[in-house]
Amino acid sequence: MKRVVLLGGGHAHAYVLRMLIDTPLHDVRLTLVTPYDRHTYSGMLPGLVAGHYAVEDVQIDVAGLAASAGAECLRAEVVGLDAAQRRVQLAGGAALEYDFASLNLGSLPNTTAVPGSDVHALAAKPFERFLEGWNALLARPRAAPLTLALVGAGAAGAELAMAIAYRLESLGREGNLTLYSDRPMFTGALARRVRAALVRNRVRLREPEAVTRLEPDGLVVTRSSRERYDAVVWTAGAAPLPWLRSSGLDTDAAGFVLVDNMLRSVSHPEVFAVGDCATLRDAPHPKSGVYAVRHGDFLARNLRYALARVPLHRYRPQRLALALISCGARWAIADWAGLSAEGAWVWRWKDRLDRHWIRRFRI
Ligand SMILES: Cc1cc2nc3c(=O)[nH]c(=O)nc-3n(C[C@H](O)[C@H](O)[C@H](O)COP(=O)(O)OP(=O)(O)OC[C@H]3O[C@@H](n4cnc5c(N)ncnc54)[C@H](O)[C@@H]3O)c2cc1C
Repeated sequence: MKRVVLLGGGHAHAYVLRMLIDTPLHDVRLTLVTPYDRHTYSGMLPGLVAGHYAVEDVQIDVAGLAASAGAECLRAEVVGLDAAQRRVQLAGGAALEYDFASLNLGSLPNTTAVPGSDVHALAAKPFERFLEGWNALLARPRAAPLTLALVGAGAAGAELAMAIAYRLESLGREGNLTLYSDRPMFTGALARRVRAALVRNRVRLREPEAVTRLEPDGLVVTRSSRERYDAVVWTAGAAPLPWLRSSGLDTDAAGFVLVDNMLRSVSHPEVFAVGDCATLRDAPHPKSGVYAVRHGDFLARNLRYALARVPLHRYRPQRLALALISCGARWAIADWAGLSAEGAWVWRWKDRLDRHWIRRFRI
């Protein structure tokens, strides 16, 4: 019997488990390792923060999916992998051996370049910890306006800033939000739309303004200013889990697992890696949930083919991806290859797509 371990319950593994419920694998001992029973869907997280969704609306019960797929679910954090020995190290000391492993572990906001950002900021990921921090901020006494800085004005930072601003306003709380970015993240019409949406939500955009240091008690230091906030939310960049570099798997310069076009490690073909934690060696693409979802479909098939020892499918990433950016209220911006539109109808469209996607995992 082959031992297959799925490490992390991200978008792609949720999809694999869903597929396995309908078409089980035979003669395989399947184990999912996840620190949390439920996976939070990133596309709906800003909507959760804004108050449009309840937490159950935006989560996938990966532990339940694993049980229905006949897999064992270990609630644990992976802290290391020895690719040469085919062994996974779990927090607490336990180890797992495998014949095939698949990594869908996501990424973390990049706090390596800015001193203090790893200790003095609330990182947007893992979402579970971010939500704890956000709920603690909401529970603070209302005496004074809540002042928040967000660092990283990509889609995630902009959406989160507007979601927070909207939530505070709908709770009747005074807020003061500043979004820092070291460089413009959007161009053309999309940039104009995002800027206008930030203004409507009363989010102050500091761009280009590189944060050079964070100090205790919410002090944000740039080359030209020192400003104090109640809290700093870090959304900038995507960094790999640090132990991937010492796993023996080939990684790219940043430390993400390098995979071939069948989503297998280029150095250890019995290891698959998908979503944010992987970089496609021959066709690198942005790290976003859109690609992680696409990987799930290929992974489900290739895992089955690898076990059956038949040729694997080649994955070719889509060249363009639709961006849907929610803007606090039930309003969103859509962008496809430089063509953009916005409105309440875009939000309803995004909401329908997101709800439809997450419904597939209800069991
Ligand atoms: C605020 C925000 C909003 C975003 N909105 C969008 C959006 O609208 N559209 C979009 O395409 N992208 C969005 N992104 C980007 C998106 O979050 C990622 O690209 C996407 O989540 C990657 O999916 P994944 O399955 O690879 O990883 P993840 O979704 O991060 O899942 C990884 C899983 O691995 C688990 N895990 C992590 N470490 C370990 C460990 N050591 N051991 C075991 N398990 C572990 C985690 O618990 C998690 O369940 C957003 C990001 C942020 C921060």
